Amino acid sequence: MGMDRETQLRAIGNGQIEWLNIGVNVLCDPFVRLPIRFILRGRWHEVEQIIEIARDDMDTNAETFLIRTGTGQVFALCRRSNLVKAGCWWWIAFRVLNSEEVICFERRNRQMLIDLELKMLADAHGHLCPDLAIGWRVGLVARKVFGGNDDGNILAGCLSCASEAIAAMGSWNLKIDALMGRHFYRLEALGAGCVELEVPDELTWPDGNFAGLERQVSENKASILEIAAYQIQIDDQISRILGATDQELFFSK
Ligand SMILES: [Zn+2]
Repeated sequence: MGMDRETQLRAIGNGQIEWLNIGVNVLCDPFVRLPIRFILRGRWHEVEQIIEIARDDMDTNAETFLIRTGTGQVFALCRRSNLVKAGCWWWIAFRVLNSEEVICFERRNRQMLIDLELKMLADAHGHLCPDLAIGWRVGLVARKVFGGNDDGNILAGCLSCASEAIAAMGSWNLKIDALMGRHFYRLEALGAGCVELEVPDELTWPDGNFAGLERQVSENKASILEIAAYQIQIDDQISRILGATDQELFFSK
């Protein structure tokens, strides 16, 4: 489900949408006030899943529900509360193009998930994120350092998606030492020295408007387009991590 949410956000962030801006009639749950079904162009569509709820870009009284219908179509369904009278207006902002419609995009997506082990880690974890990608790369180095067996200690600078990936990749002894720094890892082979790895800031703290966007998303103040733009920036960061050589990714000591 997490991966599917990201797939939809990537499609939106890449502009793979059909703008509709059509008013619709919606049957809404009277208690939780979530959409149940709606009529678009004379046909009923069941809301099978609400993928994301976001604020509107322009209108603070409006919110966007990214939903999947019973027939598998994904729409941005928007609601504006009527402040004077009870009730609200609903409209469909856009439809997200499906995978057959965006084959090129899917191909790029698959390329990013080309390594089966990373894909398995992402599926188990619920999402693919930069920290998970870093943890996977640390695990690959650990296998080399430990000579193919799992006898060794790994110290990680923090509990994160990275340490979860490392824990899932081998039966080595993983410990967290918060004093070491967020992306600092020490690989201790039994009876044979150790290797220290540190990920440079430019791969863990992307610059630009990323931090501001991240804050907006985490505070539920972002619109669906902003959430999608955020996902694309995360994807770019993951691509840079996966594209880096061991030397570029780690200051090895
Ligand atoms: Zn994560």
